[in-house]
Amino acid sequence: MKKILSILIVCARAVAMMAGCASSNSNAPVSTELGQSEHVVILVLDALSSSYLSKMGPKSNLAKIAQAGACVLDAQCVYPSHTLTNHATIMTGASSGAHGIIGNVRLAEDGVTTIKSKEPEMIQCETIFELAKAQGLKTAVVSGKNNLVTLFSKDCDVGTSNVRPLSYLKDAPNLDNAETNEDYYEMNLELADWVFESLYTVLETEAPNLTLVNVQSSDYIGHRFGPESEEMNTCLKRIDKALGKFYDKMKKSGMLDDTTLIIVADHGMTSSDKAINLNVLTMMNFPGAAAAIDGRTGYIWLNDTDEAEVIAFFENTEGVASIFSGTSEIAQELGVASQDGPDLILNSEAGYVFLPQPMIDEYHGQHGSPDDSDMIIPMICVGGGIPAGAGIEVTDLRAVAPLVCKLLGISGGEFEISEPVLLPQQDLSAFKK
Ligand SMILES: [Zn+2]
Repeated sequence: MKKILSILIVCARAVAMMAGCASSNSNAPVSTELGQSEHVVILVLDALSSSYLSKMGPKSNLAKIAQAGACVLDAQCVYPSHTLTNHATIMTGASSGAHGIIGNVRLAEDGVTTIKSKEPEMIQCETIFELAKAQGLKTAVVSGKNNLVTLFSKDCDVGTSNVRPLSYLKDAPNLDNAETNEDYYEMNLELADWVFESLYTVLETEAPNLTLVNVQSSDYIGHRFGPESEEMNTCLKRIDKALGKFYDKMKKSGMLDDTTLIIVADHGMTSSDKAINLNVLTMMNFPGAAAAIDGRTGYIWLNDTDEAEVIAFFENTEGVASIFSGTSEIAQELGVASQDGPDLILNSEAGYVFLPQPMIDEYHGQHGSPDDSDMIIPMICVGGGIPAGAGIEVTDLRAVAPLVCKLLGISGGEFEISEPVLLPQQDLSAFKK
């Protein structure tokens, strides 16, 4: 299925290029050679699904930046399509089963409660921070989500988020203090502005060679109000404005000459309005087993409960799209297979989410599944080491770590796939309304 899909994508791209809608640039030949760069910034626009690009439009700053660099607008994240999983993939070049951050949550040692997968020792592969530090390079994290500062604190020289800003940065809103939906919305917009402003200040002040950035608002607003909401449209405009301002400052100051910006999303977002109460269903029917909910994915640890019985039960549960063993062939195909992961993994159908029913009104968007709406993301590179007007062959987030190493001249990393292949044309049609 996946293979057929990628063949179709390649064919569609070839037709688009022949039709002449591929690049708006002149006839000048486009270089497909990657250069080197003294600084690299990985800018993750959280949950910025490729489906949002048409809302942003061809005149958006993001579209202009894509045109000025290299891009593929239908790249993929890895499964499960969650934040911590895909940031770990960006930072290691590994799939989830290999780096061990399978979803945002995992079972605690007590075998009953769940904890966030945010501790640095949970990552089972070498990160590009470790590789960079081994070559004497300086590393930084600037994030609207504090969990990411924690997860990548090992080998990180400068880490900052809104709840622990550096002394020379402005104060930022703490989303935990939001009392109403309106507060939460406004504070998210302000916090995203803070991330862009702080990023520029950190780059100027500290000159890190490798910086990981997370802009949280597109994720939090997508969850709370839904990907099709008016709030989401405004959020996208606001991010685009802040991005444009940041990019212009980088250009004007000359910093972009020796800095490469890699702009990606960690996953997409799907509208949801129906709950599957996985915890209660598991407790009532299989009291020995433990369950954890994580957006459109759920996890079960069997604790000696019969696997076939649990699978048969959830296969017939409304809203469950699939359930499979964490070491099965399906798990291997999805890159999530691991002896240390959950015994069973569930995906929800579009519109459904693993959540207690009373909480459903707080969430109108979720992600985590292998569906396109959760998986297809843009990958846009611009600046120092990137030729203008190039395309990128369809790839996934595992290609970011080898790309960073190539740009920074770091050797010795072992990755599942190689850096992105550049193409002489780019297809910007995803930005069309
Ligand atoms: Zn995310």
